[in-house]
Amino acid sequence: MDEKDRKIAVVGNVQDVTRVAREIALEEAAKVAAPGIGRKLLKVPDERLRQKSRPVEKIDDYVTEVAQFLLDQLAPTESIGLAACQYGEMIRLIVVRIQGIERVFVNPALVKKSDKTHLLSEACRSIPGKKFAIERPKIVKIRGLGLDGEMHSLKGHDLVAQCLCHELDHLDGVLIDTIGRYIGE
Ligand SMILES: [Zn+2]
Repeated sequence: MDEKDRKIAVVGNVQDVTRVAREIALEEAAKVAAPGIGRKLLKVPDERLRQKSRPVEKIDDYVTEVAQFLLDQLAPTESIGLAACQYGEMIRLIVVRIQGIERVFVNPALVKKSDKTHLLSEACRSIPGKKFAIERPKIVKIRGLGLDGEMHSLKGHDLVAQCLCHELDHLDGVLIDTIGRYIGE
């Protein structure tokens, strides 16, 4: 490399550094402008999945944005429900889209469950590729705040009940690998 090439190489590097710095700055600005970018699905053994989520005190823009983000994640997949903690947002918020029902529940609670139970096969996006056999109530009723700040309830049986129980468990850091029996990939 002669002197001229060496200088060009140095100048090239300086430009690269400036370009990279500008790109990083733009990325950071975009994160502030569009919260949620960079959120990733947590998978076992991420310890956050075993932690209890905290109650939501106020339904604000952040809570609404998390709910919309979770609904967006449901769209292209077979998943029928998600809990905020699966994306590292440790608030008591779940979304379900199942059998024509699309709901957001903030601070949800189980208010009723049938004594009658059944043994079901269950999977979780945070535990990829594994299935577990779990005893679930046939019917459950849950109650929680909607994004409108009003209290809503939902009663579901079979698959809906199973989904609601699964998502509520997430809020308490309970995963199917601890309450179910592993039955294969
Ligand atoms: Zn799950």
